[in-house]
This record gives sequence, structure tokens and C-alpha cells, in this order.
Amino acid sequence: MTILVTGGAGYIGSHTCVELLAAGYDIVVVDNLRNSDMAAVEGVKKISGKNFPFYQVDMRDADAMDDIFAKHNIGCIIHFAGHKAVGESVAIPAEYYDNNINATLGLCKAMKKHGVKNIVFSSSATVYRSDNTVPWVEEAVLGAANPYGWTKFMCEQILRDCVAAEGWSAVLLRYFNPVGAHPSGIIGENPQGIPNNLMPFIAQTAKGIREKLQIFGNDYDTPDGTGVRDYIHVVDLAIGHVKSIDYCLKHSGCEAFNLGSGQGISVLELVKTFEAENNVPVPYEFAPRRAGDLGAYYADPSKAKRLLGFATQKSLADMCKDTWRYQEGNNG
Ligand code: NAD
Ligand code: UDP
Repeated sequence: MTILVTGGAGYIGSHTCVELLAAGYDIVVVDNLRNSDMAAVEGVKKISGKNFPFYQVDMRDADAMDDIFAKHNIGCIIHFAGHKAVGESVAIPAEYYDNNINATLGLCKAMKKHGVKNIVFSSSATVYRSDNTVPWVEEAVLGAANPYGWTKFMCEQILRDCVAAEGWSAVLLRYFNPVGAHPSGIIGENPQGIPNNLMPFIAQTAKGIREKLQIFGNDYDTPDGTGVRDYIHVVDLAIGHVKSIDYCLKHSGCEAFNLGSGQGISVLELVKTFEAENNVPVPYEFAPRRAGDLGAYYADPSKAKRLLGFATQKSLADMCKDTWRYQEGNNG
């Protein structure tokens, strides 16, 4: 069985390629390298000891995608490719809608043309409206707070409609906060410029690349006043994709799943765990709340456990240690 992995050179995509190869799948990877580079593709080959076809293609190039579908007997797709920065999506919304929606629409047209019926889609917890009570369940009210979130919301709807019309099988995976790196230290998260997300900012601060972490808000209604999120190790997340393929191939219809640990962790808890596990200081200061942030949210992961047989295995300590190993080895 061959899996087409779009965005497979990216952070989550590269870790998923490793787990797919370990599970015995063949893979074909498509990525335009806008937010990644060949080092991740080479890293996947090194970890797995396996080779696979890689195409540097923009998914909006219908002819190039058509050639890839014609050349390979694709059984299932995992669609990671897309822009993902919330702040950037507010600044350049048209680029976000163009890239994320048109990549998905083109994929649906190619699936129909080439008779591919199975797709696993990278969605996000951003598709839940912020006023749902925690923990968030899959039936919670959907909505979005920024253009990035709306692209995920719209892609979910596009897939729901195509599944209904074509009799396909789609799994929509709503990730909470992916962090960490492969334990080998060979692949990990390598954001361009100043990181927006907490874990890469902590790692770069520990390394001395950033002077100080700003903790956005210490007056939330949470145990220590700092924001609470549901962090999931990227290797656990990758394994969740392998289990989703099994599910996708055995069912038809469209099903959404939360992928998270179900555990709420505060910013301060994460900082303290990082310092303790890696024996390195992370200087920080409290700063005002970040616009648009919520105090606390985390997943109800029980549906994924029940139907996919998926539950996270790795601890917060693993997330911190693996992030630091990658930071130490790869980023100066
Ligand atoms: P990433 O940026 O590391 O990976 C995405 C990859 O897609 C990149 O390698 C990029 O070059 C590629 N890409 C983008 N547009 C493309 C196009 N038109 N054609 C071909 N390739 C294209 O991001 P990631 O963190 O690995 O996220 C993967 C997916 O998961 C994204 O869809 C993202 O929105 C979603 N997601 C990520 C998070 C997170 O916190 N990392 C959370 C929820 C959902
Ligand atoms: N955060 C912070 N300082 C930073 C980046 C993030 O205090 O430099 C906090 C943020 O307010 C939130 C948590 O860390 O409570 C996770 O933020 P991130 O941007 O990683 O993910 P989000 O949950 O916002 O998608």
C-alpha cells in the first residue's frame, strides 16, 4: 500500500513518514519546501534506512499533481501541506485561503480523476469555537477566530461534501499542541525566524539564541495563572496518523478525531519541566496576555482511544528532553 504524504518535509509530516515506513507502508512525498528543506527528507531516510520518491511540487500545480497520481498507485493520502501560522494568516489572509483551500480542492479533483478514495487530513483544535466548555469533544460547536482557522474549517467541509458525493473515506484529525522531536535528534521542529510557539521559544531561550521567554499572561483563571494547553509529542501524533490510516481503509464516511493527551499543562509547568529535565535555565518574565489567546483548553481524547485505539504514550519529560536534544544538535 502506497501513501501519498503531502507536506511530508514539514515538522509533523517528516515524523509521520518515519512511522509509516516503520509500519511497512510505501510512501511518496510531495512538498514545495516553502516552510521546510531537504534535510528533513534526508533525515527520514537516515532514520528509516529506506528510500522513497520525493517531489518538490506546489500542490496547486494541477498538471504536476496529475503526473504524480498517474505514476504511483496511491491507496491513501495524508494531507499535511498548508500554511500554519495564525499571525501571518491575519496579515496575509488571501495567501492563506489560496494556498490551503486550493491545495485541498486540487487534491480532491485528482482523487476523483484517479479513483483514490481514502484521505487523512491535518485539521486543528482551532476549528472549535472558543466558548465551548473544556475538555473539548468532537461534537463541540465549530467556528474559527482567524483566517488560518477558517481554512481548516472550510477544508473539513470540502472533504465532508466530497465524501458524501463520492463515497470516500476521510479522517479529520484535530491536533492540539504538537511539540518535541524524534528521539534520534535527527528531525524536529525548525521554525524560520522568531518562533511564535511556546516550545521552540523555550528551546531557543535555553540555548541563548533568545534572551528571555515572555510568558503571556499570569492572571488567567488557571491553577498558576498562566495559559493551559494540551501538548502532544510529535512521535505520538505520527503514530496517531498510522492508526488513522488503518481506520480510514476499513470504513467509509467522514469522521473527526481529537489528537491530544487530554491533560492540561500550564506555561510555567512546561518551563519548569524543561529546566529540570535538561538541567538548563530558561530565563522568563511575565508579560501581558497575547491578543486572541484563551486561558485554558485541552482535548477529550476518548473518541480516538475508542475508535482508533490511539492514546499518547510519551510524557511531558520526553517532550522536553527530545526538543532539547534536537535543539542542541541542529540549531547552532
Ligand atoms: P510545516 O510547515 O512544518 O509543514 C507543512 C509543509 O507543507 C511544509 O513543509 C510546507 O513547505 C508544505 N507546503 C505548504 N504549502 C504547500 C503547497 N501548496 N504545496 C506543497 N507543499 C506545501 O507544518 P506542520 O507543523 O508540520 O503542520 C502540518 C499540518 O498540520 C499543517 O496543515 C498544519 O496546519 C497542521 N497543524 C499543525 C499544528 C502545529 O502546531 N504544528 C497544529 C494543528 C494543525
Ligand atoms: N506562550 C507564551 N509565550 C510565548 C509563546 C506562547 O507564554 O512566547 C503561551 C501562549 O500564551 C499559550 C501557550 O504558551 O498559553 C501555547 O502557545 P502556542 O503559541 O505554542 O500555541 P497555541 O495554543 O496558542 O496555538
